[in-house]
Amino acid sequence: MKPFDILDPLMPTPERPILLRDLKNYLTFLKDYGYSDIPLQSGSILEPGSDKSNLSRPSTETTRQHTMAKPRTSAKPNLTLEEVREELGDCTRCNLHSTRKTIVFGSGNPHADLVFVGEGPGADEDEQGFPFVGRAGKKLTEIIEKGMKLNRERDTYICNIVKCRPPENRDPKADEVAACNPFLIKQLQAIRPKAIVALGKPSASTLLGRTVPIMKERGTWHEYAGIPLMLTLHPAYLLRAYTLENRRNVMDDMNKVLAKLRE
Ligand code: URA
Repeated sequence: MKPFDILDPLMPTPERPILLRDLKNYLTFLKDYGYSDIPLQSGSILEPGSDKSNLSRPSTETTRQHTMAKPRTSAKPNLTLEEVREELGDCTRCNLHSTRKTIVFGSGNPHADLVFVGEGPGADEDEQGFPFVGRAGKKLTEIIEKGMKLNRERDTYICNIVKCRPPENRDPKADEVAACNPFLIKQLQAIRPKAIVALGKPSASTLLGRTVPIMKERGTWHEYAGIPLMLTLHPAYLLRAYTLENRRNVMDDMNKVLAKLRE
């Protein structure tokens, strides 16, 4: 199959909508990253293993420099986290701005090897302006510090797919996630971690551009723009379903992340 065969409306495959969404997400990522075009000779095929296949989603095996390599021409340099925050400004891009108290951009080390991506601020985060400071946040801190023996502020960066609290703690809506996504992309570009952990289904689904069955896919490695991406349970879910099995599963997932960071 040629890469753009999925654009053929007659292509008979149940995976087509998923492939199309993945392609759209990847093209958006490339655009945000500074690419203005994709050099492709007419009629040419992006053979796996050929040089041109580097333009397709890079594999986990690819080195960091490779996967996050600077685009050749017309590239915008990566923004720093501070610049991304500045660009976000006093955001009114979606309706969440009307009910939020504070924009919760993210916290931790801007050069961390590990980034956790949650769903969205709750009441405590909205009040204090920092992610994961409520009950779920305490559980996440415990996972990082007691479980992984890392220091939350020094060794990780934590942010969410949406930066403003959804009222009544409902799930963020698609248009809210879409409005915030360019800023999540730029945050991850600025940090360029060695690994990302998606906390829960909305985060995993946003990063992968498809609906992720989290109970089935947690504990497995995926890729976000060439960066290894681990999916795990959200700490708020863990608190609600505090079973030995769920706790063991999350620790197994985090041990895989620690092994990846040591590679
Ligand atoms: N849940 C999240 O997903 N993010 C937070 O910041 C807090 C709770």
